Amino acid sequence: MNLDRLALYPGERPSIVCPFCDTWRLWRRGMLMPHRIDQSDPSSPRCVGSGQRIQLDLSPARWRAELDEARALAARRACQARSPHTHRAHLALPLEA
Ligand SMILES: [Zn+2]
Repeated sequence: MNLDRLALYPGERPSIVCPFCDTWRLWRRGMLMPHRIDQSDPSSPRCVGSGQRIQLDLSPARWRAELDEARALAARRACQARSPHTHRAHLALPLEA
C-alpha cells in the first residue's frame, strides 16, 4: 500500500483509502470501517471494502518519516526533470567511431 494512502497523524483517527471505492475511510483495530459506495445515498450498497482486515506494520512515527522521505525524493526528481541541464545531458552521449 502506498504511504500516501494512509493517514496516521497524531491526534487524528487513522484513515486509509479504501482499495475498492478509492475514498478515505476510517480504520480501527486493523479493520476498514463499514461504509457505503455512495455515502450520501442510504440505499447505496455496502462497499466490499467494508470490514476488510488491513494490517499495517508501520508505527505512526515510522509512517510519517517514510512519507516525508518519499515526498522529498519525489520533489527532487520533479526538480531534476524541469532542469535545463537534463536536456544537455542527453546531447552529451559519446559518439561512435
Ligand atoms: Zn470502500
